[in-house]
Amino acid sequence: MKYCTRCVMPDTKPGVLMDTDGVCSACRSVERKKEIDWNSRRTELEQICEEIKRTNTSCYDCIVPVSGGKDSQYQVWMMKQMGMNVLSVCLAAHLPTEEGIANYNSMITNLEVDNIKVNLKPSTYRKLRRKAFVKQGEPNWAEHCAVFASVVNVAVIYDVPLIVWGEDISVEFGGRSTIRKADALDINKNDLIKDKTIFDWLDDEITEKDVFFFKYPREELLQERKIKSIYLGYYDNWDGKKHYDLAEKYGFEGRKEGPLSGNYINYDNIDEKLCEINIWMKYIKFGFWRPTDQCCYQIWNGRMTRQKAVKIVNELQGQFPKEYYQDFLDYHMLTEKEFWETVERFRNHNIWEKSNDTWRIKYPLI
Ligand SMILES: [Zn+2]
Repeated sequence: MKYCTRCVMPDTKPGVLMDTDGVCSACRSVERKKEIDWNSRRTELEQICEEIKRTNTSCYDCIVPVSGGKDSQYQVWMMKQMGMNVLSVCLAAHLPTEEGIANYNSMITNLEVDNIKVNLKPSTYRKLRRKAFVKQGEPNWAEHCAVFASVVNVAVIYDVPLIVWGEDISVEFGGRSTIRKADALDINKNDLIKDKTIFDWLDDEITEKDVFFFKYPREELLQERKIKSIYLGYYDNWDGKKHYDLAEKYGFEGRKEGPLSGNYINYDNIDEKLCEINIWMKYIKFGFWRPTDQCCYQIWNGRMTRQKAVKIVNELQGQFPKEYYQDFLDYHMLTEKEFWETVERFRNHNIWEKSNDTWRIKYPLI
């Protein structure tokens, strides 16, 4: 396990490579981002929007997938700036936080946008999440699958010609891809989904009739209906902090009690309660999680030194996401024993070792 000499990303992150200078591919991707002519990208986006406004015969010009978080608020705001008639679509959180509900409601009110909420029946969602946790150590796989598929299905149903996603996570946060691209039609194959589809999870308990909103529409259907899917991060210089500042003006509030355990900032994925354990599983598998992601992002955007990041990561990464642990157990109907047995099955013994009955990472970040 080696850490980047410029940020604090380890090479255990899937897709991240270190070059001969010890600099990670995510940092190199940040360098390339600085060379982009954002004004001409903006013009490209304006052209796409003008073309749609000129030719669109259905009511909505575009769909923006939303959670109520800072990034989705920014996306809605930006598309409204472009003069588009926006339909926002939300995959309902099953265990939303107070802040999540308030931010979602204030987004609809303050940004003046129509909204559709897709609510998945709890029994299917719970079973799928539980299976994804036990078999893959990744409970949110089911949710990611449903977010992408439900939004695109709504576009088909309402005949909306454009879907505007946020950032391409495979590029923005250092992943399998380093090439920034505009087209997002294959978003159902990104780093969050990998090579699986919902059909890999069907069995006696869950049938195809239970999973309409988990099924990504066929590529031919999307081509036939001329539905375009883009990453706003290709056209606009993506920056979570900038989005936070904008969303705050429209009533967005960070977590009132301050950052969650292991977090450095109080406005990252604060909408719902089931996400933190999913992210924490990266610590078990790859030896890093929230503090590394958040500090790297600050370094990449010139807001933190590596030295400070090392200190923060070492202080925070050992914290357990205790706040919603009981909610996680209750929702998935897991006992503590089942939870920890699953966690231990996914612990990466190449990077973890036990001393004095305590697990620690063999390769400290310095
Ligand atoms: Zn780096």
